[in-house]
Amino acid sequence: MRISEIFRSLQGEGRLTGTECAFVRACGCNLRCGYCDTLYASWSPEGVEMPVAEILERIEQLAIPGPQRHVVLTGGEPMLFDEMVSLSLALRNAGWHITVETSGTRYLPVACDLMSISPKLSNSTPVQSNDPRILARHEENRREPNVIERLIADCDYQFKFVVETPADCREVEEYLAARPQIDRRRAMLMPQGVDPAELEKIARWLEPYCAEHRLMFCPRKQIEWFGARRGT
Ligand code: SF4
Repeated sequence: MRISEIFRSLQGEGRLTGTECAFVRACGCNLRCGYCDTLYASWSPEGVEMPVAEILERIEQLAIPGPQRHVVLTGGEPMLFDEMVSLSLALRNAGWHITVETSGTRYLPVACDLMSISPKLSNSTPVQSNDPRILARHEENRREPNVIERLIADCDYQFKFVVETPADCREVEEYLAARPQIDRRRAMLMPQGVDPAELEKIARWLEPYCAEHRLMFCPRKQIEWFGARRGT
């Protein structure tokens, strides 16, 4: 499987915010979100082929402290790669807590302790692209309701929705209303952007919105801590 990067950092988003983790970023994605902040794993993929054994070795070298060691399998879209199954099983056998970060558009029977699903709303449309094939493929791939159902049936989960405007909140509400099997208390709304001022501007209205509508507000702490830097 092609890997863009393997690094040690703090989880900046979601339920495990602040937890020290090993991150494995698979290279390649079936979507082309307009706001993607890991272009080197999606639009312009850069990575090297790595067998599972080498990935495991690189993870161990990061010396994540125990007793409960955390690893995050992310991308790109990690669920595109069949080798994720054997990687996740080996990590489970070695006692790691495994988070999988996915858009929820592909299913694989991975070993996972927290499925972190970020469904792509209409605000993900790659409006900057002039290529109608890219736009069409993104629209076709971004919704896979059957995959979501299987993922949440298999594993503990959280949902993270990227929000830029109040219209996006309405779309989240429609999404949740159409899927009553999703536990609303596990749905988080996260401001869109990689610029702290931009994030702060959205947070000013989004945080009270979440409190009022019984949703969780999800800051992007990694931007605050490290800026929009690769490998953090
Ligand atoms: S799903 Fe994630 S990695 Fe893929 S294009 Fe969208 S934001 Fe980027």
